[in-house]
Amino acid sequence: MSKIFVYAEVADGSVADCSLELVGRARELAGQHGFSVGALLVGYGVRGLTDELIQRGADEVHVVDDVALSSYNILLHARAVAEVVKAEAPDILLFPASTTGRELAPRVAVRLGTGITADCTAVEIGDYVDPATGRKYEKLLYQIRPTFGGTVMAMIVTPRHRPQIATVRPGVYPIPPRDGKRSGRVREWSVDLSGKDAECVEVLEVKKEKRKVDLKSARIIVSGGRGAGPEGFKLIRQLAEALGGEVGASRAAVDAGWISYDHQVGLTGQTVKPDVYIAVGISGAIQHIVGMKDSKIIIAINKDPEAPIFRVADYGIVGDLFVVLPKLTERLRRR
Ligand SMILES: Cc1cc2nc3c(=O)[nH]c(=O)nc-3n(C[C@H](O)[C@H](O)[C@H](O)COP(=O)(O)OP(=O)(O)OC[C@H]3O[C@@H](n4cnc5c(N)ncnc54)[C@H](O)[C@@H]3O)c2cc1C
Repeated sequence: MSKIFVYAEVADGSVADCSLELVGRARELAGQHGFSVGALLVGYGVRGLTDELIQRGADEVHVVDDVALSSYNILLHARAVAEVVKAEAPDILLFPASTTGRELAPRVAVRLGTGITADCTAVEIGDYVDPATGRKYEKLLYQIRPTFGGTVMAMIVTPRHRPQIATVRPGVYPIPPRDGKRSGRVREWSVDLSGKDAECVEVLEVKKEKRKVDLKSARIIVSGGRGAGPEGFKLIRQLAEALGGEVGASRAAVDAGWISYDHQVGLTGQTVKPDVYIAVGISGAIQHIVGMKDSKIIIAINKDPEAPIFRVADYGIVGDLFVVLPKLTERLRRR
């Protein structure tokens, strides 16, 4: 049976959400197209995480549990992943487009002599006919991502090399629920992790910076753009606080230095799907829209009635944010 493998990133002793999302997506695709799902669990002291991966949708978990992998050494992790993939020959290999996945996936691709599509916003499976030769390929991975600065959605296929490797943006697929009745197979691998790769990096200390912003799990996001300016962001923060939400931003606002990058929504920021997304003083460039279009309700506040943001908004307020926001916040506070 053809196989889809997912790299199971481990963060703070748990499987990272971004990998669980991919296990869920792989399960969906596997069900529709007759694949099996394998998870790759690489690290030290990670054996206890196999049940979670199976319950979320993996049929098999391939484990490389080795003391040499206790601190993150990219060379050893890439070797461990590549060795298992070489032996198992999956058709498709998915990594989250997290910091780790973005670093690891291309190194694994080079070791396997295949390509990679980075930062996909969707993955599907379907057939493909090569226009040059007329040859038909069945059940290829459609690797879908914005290109040319977000003006075009590209569908990329890898007909002749295996595995087909893609990194997929965190937050585009939901985390599947646990199914305690699922069962699966666990396979332990022993990979030779000795040699120069093991010696050339020594981790002396790990300093973790606490995440200050959590846009991914926010139910309400109030985002500000260039139209807000530094003064407008004070009003945006007040509105977000009144609603119990987080503050997001367009790239223009981040580039202007009014707010830090971890608040940025869009092509080169985060993909978010809150219940309510309020875009304030944001024009609605495609690079912003791709990061928030799947929000349940979109509300736009902009003084230009022709602003493109109104095309994706469920509700629009045409007006000056410096007039609208104080009234809105005041009303919400009273309620
Ligand atoms: C490769 C690439 C990647 C990119 N990635 C991202 C990304 O991840 N995220 C992102 O956001 N952008 C991204 N961009 C930039 C994007 O193209 C736009 O330039 C950016 O989104 C514009 O930000 P903005 O809407 O805040 O600013 P503007 O387009 O300048 O819009 C400002 C809006 O504010 C309104 N306004 C002004 N004053 C007021 C007022 N007083 N009250 C109400 N409304 C007012 C105006 O009418 C206008 O519509 C990227 C671009 C490229 C090329």
